[in-house]
Amino acid sequence: NASVLMTMDHDRRELHDAGLFARDGWIEQVGSSSELPPTADEVLDLRDHILLPGLINTHHHLYQTLTRAVPAAQDAGLFAWLKTLYPIWARMRPEDIRVSTIVGLAELALSGCTTSSDHLYIFPDGCRLDDAIESAQRVGLRFHASRGSMSLGESQGGLPPDSVVEQPQAILDDTQRLIETYHDARPGSMLRLVVAPCSPFSVTPDLMRESAALARAGGVHLHTHLAETMDEDAFCRETFGHRPLAYAEELGWSGPDVWFAHGVHIDASEVARMARAGIGVAHCPASNMRLASGIAPVRRYRAAGVNVGLGVDGSASNDSSHLLAEARLAMLLSRVGMAVAPAIDDRPEMLTARQALEMATLGGAAVLGRTDIGSLEAGRCADFVAIDLNRLPYAGGLHDPVAALIFCSPATVDLNYVHGRPVVRDGRLVTVDLPPVIEAHNRAARRLVD
Ligand code: ZN
Repeated sequence: NASVLMTMDHDRRELHDAGLFARDGWIEQVGSSSELPPTADEVLDLRDHILLPGLINTHHHLYQTLTRAVPAAQDAGLFAWLKTLYPIWARMRPEDIRVSTIVGLAELALSGCTTSSDHLYIFPDGCRLDDAIESAQRVGLRFHASRGSMSLGESQGGLPPDSVVEQPQAILDDTQRLIETYHDARPGSMLRLVVAPCSPFSVTPDLMRESAALARAGGVHLHTHLAETMDEDAFCRETFGHRPLAYAEELGWSGPDVWFAHGVHIDASEVARMARAGIGVAHCPASNMRLASGIAPVRRYRAAGVNVGLGVDGSASNDSSHLLAEARLAMLLSRVGMAVAPAIDDRPEMLTARQALEMATLGGAAVLGRTDIGSLEAGRCADFVAIDLNRLPYAGGLHDPVAALIFCSPATVDLNYVHGRPVVRDGRLVTVDLPPVIEAHNRAARRLVD
């Protein structure tokens, strides 16, 4: 009985008084309520709700929920911000990774996300990617775990202190172990591995090249930060003699198995190269505003056929993991871009609410290399979220409930199902008891920052 069902199918159909029927985690039927089977093991009555595909988050550093609003890092650009935070992150322990992953994923689940990637690239004191994976399994979201890395310390001309970088062989060995242990390539997979050296200024070219080879041998995706700030652009020109994209391409980082976080400082000819190669982008509007990084040319990417998903980015630069809010910011920031930087993003039309939602669903699925999620149609995973339209933020906006989700103040969801299993019901996370987690998280955050 959903008032509106946003399918995100090929024709972007929006159905009224509609629903879906799923079995064992897979959607079998989508249509008007009267056409659905008369009963089921579990029936959800979504009268007065909007039902949409679960949102997909394509860039995050979940551990950074521990360092939100750190006073010394509140008003700094990327490089100064990182230099303030590296020593704090270097004090993390495995239990900090576990608790922060739950907090970040809980926020994502409550804001409509059913699939998230994570990029963990700092491993002090016995921390492992396994810690994040175990927590993600507890929360119940579909998870793309990126084995990040840093190998270029300060003494070698990199940005991070030497104490937080790893030896290249140890990085590659651990990445191989993780792929063999966890990566599930099958349709409906709840867990995939990604190879993700951190950024041009924290990783050696050799490790970038070897990471690409390892990922391709294992059939997994490649992810890194690229073209985020002008500082990084200058670093790449001075150190490698190239702009960031040309540097990445030279190292084999080009193809439909590659997606970059940010892609802010990318010109028209580079957009065309990315489109030809099938490279995807995780657009992170809040982080780009927070760190004064710039405005990504999203409308130009879309016009050229580059896959663009949304990323909330780490919670030290957002400082929130609210994915619906991120879609709203994507729409609004693109319009600021039209006014202040028309030469950078020179498409005449405004990014619409529906396009923002499309980036948060289908766009994210394409960026992560998945055809089994991102829309509500037969044969796709039963990953869906629903919101009660009688909530306060939407009052007066129900002429167009789909647009209201993006234009109006972002709410949390009432329902979130991943592969047919409930993660949020009645607006509450059902998989983890949050109050003790929040208490432990605040204790850990205090210990790190004090
Ligand atoms: Zn990031």
